[in-house]
Amino acid sequence: MTSRTGRHFLQIPGPTNVPDRVLRAMSAPTIDHRGPEFAELTLRLLAALKPVFDTEGPVVIYPASGTGAWEAALVNTLSPGDRVLCFETGHFATLWQRMARDLGLRVTLVPGDWRHGVDPHDVRRELDADPGGSVKAVCVVHNETSTGVTSPVPEIRRAMDAAGHPALLLVDVISSLGSIDYHHDAWGVDVTVAGSQKGLMLPPGLGFNALGPKALAASRTARLPKSFWHWEPVLDANRHGFFPYTPATNLLFGLDESLRMLAEEGLPQVFARHTRHATATRAAVRGWGLDVLCADERAHSSSLTGVLLPDGHDADRVRRIVLDRFDMSLGAGLGRLAGRVLRIGHLGHLGDLTLAGTLAGVQMGFQLAGVPVRPGGLDAALELLRAP
Ligand SMILES: *Cc1c(COP(=O)(O)O)cnc(C)c1O
Repeated sequence: MTSRTGRHFLQIPGPTNVPDRVLRAMSAPTIDHRGPEFAELTLRLLAALKPVFDTEGPVVIYPASGTGAWEAALVNTLSPGDRVLCFETGHFATLWQRMARDLGLRVTLVPGDWRHGVDPHDVRRELDADPGGSVKAVCVVHNETSTGVTSPVPEIRRAMDAAGHPALLLVDVISSLGSIDYHHDAWGVDVTVAGSQKGLMLPPGLGFNALGPKALAASRTARLPKSFWHWEPVLDANRHGFFPYTPATNLLFGLDESLRMLAEEGLPQVFARHTRHATATRAAVRGWGLDVLCADERAHSSSLTGVLLPDGHDADRVRRIVLDRFDMSLGAGLGRLAGRVLRIGHLGHLGDLTLAGTLAGVQMGFQLAGVPVRPGGLDAALELLRAP
């Protein structure tokens, strides 16, 4: 192991770089999770989370990764044999629908090419074909982290309403919350599923469900087995600032600090910063003469960019070189994109020079790996970063 100086660049699309302020907050001594100081913290957090999801409804916090929060959304709202409608936007959507099958749900999976988001016309067509209302939920990944493609949640909601269909809308915002504009209430989402380690700038270990009124109503009759994930005991205990089991106390200290940071910067500014960094990253990719994986100009992700490598070149080799030479981690191609794609994470705690350094490392990695790129990519990005 060679010795390293400076900070490791963690430019994968989650877990993301944890700010020093958050690390310091998490290093405080663990407190009694049944004491008054903890109750105050919980009540503060539950209030401060609402603007981040943009909801007036309750948010449930789990000591779990995002996958746990996926399961919570399904088991609290659905019953064995219920039909759910899913869309193959990429690796994460594929995993979520597999979980739904494992739980005893009947999944209709609309196939996709892993370069586009959910097409609202597909939503309309599938729901029109279900006049009896046997589809109980539509599951959408807002920002598909395996591809860097977003799906238009408001348009999907409008398609559901136009079909007059009563299915619930469950949305995964694990890699978009706190990075890409999102509105749980205004967009008519029933359950929003989130995690701590991406836009919220925390280590992995917290999962979230934001609950709309229709989801709460459905949870009173949903019959999928649940215990740990059951919303009701959590909501009951949360009223007084507590949890039915030991919460991840120090991650909650971190959350308190990261929510403060998001509020200080202001969510509109946070979203604008992510949009700007994503635009600069795409300028670099195109400047290198490479293709962005997302094939829909309206659907580019602000939190990561997927880069397609020319045929015959191995993305994992580039990633290995960048890690060995420059101490930077980049995202691998997942599932069917393994080896063909690398993913540049630009979400969370990031400044202009962090992005410039990231893109410099990627450019040098391509050159060292013998991938035929034009040298103008980095300059194209710098030009955008330097614009007022
Ligand atoms: C990271 C991620 C997940 C998985 O979350 P874990 O915390 O790894 O369980 C699910 N969906 C999306 C969109 C993600 O980005």
